[in-house]
Amino acid sequence: MTPLPPNSIEDRLYVLRTRWERYVADGQFEQFIEFAVAVNSLAEYFTRLRLPGLVRLCEGLENTALAKLGDQSTHPIAQRDISSLQRQMDTLHGSVASSRPVAAERRTDEPAVAAADIDWIKPRSVWIISAPQMREMANAMSLQLKFFGFKILQLDWSDERISEDMPLAVLFIPANDNTKPEEFAHIAAIRASCLASQLIYLGVQSAIEPIVALMRAGIDITIPAEGQSSNVLSCILDLVKTHEQEKYRVLIVEDSRVAVALIQRTLAQHGIDTHAINDPGKLLGVLESYQPDLILMDMYMPRFNGIEATRVLRQMTAYSALPIVYLSGESAVGMQVEALRLGGDQFLIKPFNPVLLAAVVKTKIERFREAQRSSRLDGLTGLLNHTAAKSRLKSMVGQITMHGALTVAMIDIDHFKAVNDTYGHPVGDQVIRGLAWLLKGRLRSIDLIGRYGGEEFLIALPEVGPEQARSVIDRIRMDFSALPHAHPDGALYASFSAGIASYPMVETAAGLTEVADRALLQAKRLGRNRVEKAELQ
Ligand code: GH3
Ligand code: MG
Ligand code: MG
Ligand code: MG
Repeated sequence: MTPLPPNSIEDRLYVLRTRWERYVADGQFEQFIEFAVAVNSLAEYFTRLRLPGLVRLCEGLENTALAKLGDQSTHPIAQRDISSLQRQMDTLHGSVASSRPVAAERRTDEPAVAAADIDWIKPRSVWIISAPQMREMANAMSLQLKFFGFKILQLDWSDERISEDMPLAVLFIPANDNTKPEEFAHIAAIRASCLASQLIYLGVQSAIEPIVALMRAGIDITIPAEGQSSNVLSCILDLVKTHEQEKYRVLIVEDSRVAVALIQRTLAQHGIDTHAINDPGKLLGVLESYQPDLILMDMYMPRFNGIEATRVLRQMTAYSALPIVYLSGESAVGMQVEALRLGGDQFLIKPFNPVLLAAVVKTKIERFREAQRSSRLDGLTGLLNHTAAKSRLKSMVGQITMHGALTVAMIDIDHFKAVNDTYGHPVGDQVIRGLAWLLKGRLRSIDLIGRYGGEEFLIALPEVGPEQARSVIDRIRMDFSALPHAHPDGALYASFSAGIASYPMVETAAGLTEVADRALLQAKRLGRNRVEKAELQ
C-alpha cells in the first residue's frame, strides 16, 4: 500500500521516526537516504509554518545526516554516529512536544482533521520586552508594528511568561549595552518556552563577545545600538517575507520520461516547481514563458545535445548567468570537464542521489536569486531599483492591449531633508522603508513599485484609470501621514506628495514619468501632502 503523503506534524514526525528506526535496524544506504529526505521535508514544513527554532533543530540534524551520507560502502555507520543522530532526533521530538500550545492537548474530543496544522500556523504576533526606561521606544515600535498588521504584547523584563499563542518574534529592548545576568536568564527562559520564535535583541555593542553570549542564551538576531529602530522592522518583515517568497522553478530538459518523473518527484518533495520538455529545440520559447531559476539538462537528446544547447544559451545575455546543471549517465571525467568548460555549472550522474540533487538545485538557485536580487533590487527597500523600474515600465507600456489602461504615479516624501537633519540619516532610511512597505502592502502583485531616487518612488498600476488611481494613492497618502516612525526619543510623522499620469493620454513610458513628475511638482507647489493628476495637455 502506498502511504498517503504526510499532512500534519504528527504524520511527518511519524515518517521520520519509522524511517530512522528502519535504518537503525537494517543499516542500508537507501534507508539512510530516505531518512535524510524525511528530515529535509520536515525542515521545509517548519519553515513554511514560520517556526525558525524547529527549523534550526532540523537543519542541525540534516547537516549531521549529510555528513554521514557517504555511499553503499560506508553503511551501516558507526554506533557512535547512530547515537549522536539519535540524540538529535530525541531533542527534536522533545522540542516539538514541549512547544506545542497547551490548548492543543485539551482538544482530545474534537476530530483530528488537520487540527494539528491549524494550531501550528501562528498569527503574526510579536512580544516586546523592554526595560522601564525604554518604554517610550517600545511604545513607538509597537505602534509601528501594529500599523503593519502585527499583534503586539508589551511586557517588562520582570514579567513571567504569559500563556498565550507563541509569537513570531520576541523583541528585547534592554536599558543599556551591558546585559545583566538576570536578563540572560530571562532570555534563556523565553528561548526554552518559545522554541519556534525568532528572538531579536536591540542595542548590543559591536563586539564579538557580548553577541556570542546573547546567542548562547538563545538570541537569533542582535541589532547594534546605533541605528537600532530602523533595523527592527526590516528584521521582522523579512521574517514574514522569507516565508512568502516565490517557489523555485526548475526547467527539466530531458528525453527520458522515467528520468523526468523521478526528478519531478524528488523536487516536488522539496516544494520546487518544475516544467519538463523533451526537445531542446523548444528551449528558448519555454525559457521566455516559464522563467526558470535553473535548468537541469540531459546530455544526450535527439537533435542537439545538452552541451550544444548550453553553448547557445551562454551567448544570450538574458541567460548567461542562469544555472545549468547537467544530468547524465555519462561518467567519463573528460566529458564532464568538457561540459563544464562549455558553460555548465555542475555535473550530476544518473541514477542521481535525490538528497544531492535537491541540495545542488537549492543552493544554486539561492545564489542565483541572491545575485538577481542585488542587481535589480534596491538594497534599502527591496523594491525595484531605478534601472529595473524604468525597464519594467517600458515593458508594461508595450503590453497594453487595445482598450487597456495604465496609470503611473511619482511619489516624493515631503521635507525629507528636514527629517534627515533633525533625526539623522538612519531614521530617514527607516521612513523610506516604511513607505516602501506600505506600498508593497497596499498595491497588487501586478503593480510596479520602484525606488526611483532617494525618497522618490515610481509606481504603475495596470488596468487602472486616473480617477481610480488617484483614490487608491490618496488613501495610501492618508495612511502614510498617520504612520509613526520610531526614533530613540519617540515617534515622528512624515507625508508625501504624488503626481499621476495615465495612458492613453500619454503614450510612452518616458512621457508618463515626465508628465507624472510635472504633476508631482504641482502637488508640491500647492502645499504638499496631496495627490495631483496631470492636466489635459
Ligand atoms: P520636498 O518636500 O520639496 O520634496 O523637500 P525634500 O527635503 O524632501 O527635498 P530634497 O529633494 O531637497 O531632499 C531630498 C533629501 O533626501 C536629500 C537627501 O539627502 C535625502 N536622501 C536621498 N536619499 C536618501 C537615503 O537613501 N536615505 C536618507 N536618509 N536620505 C536620503
Ligand atoms: Mg537523454
Ligand atoms: Mg526628491
Ligand atoms: Mg522630497
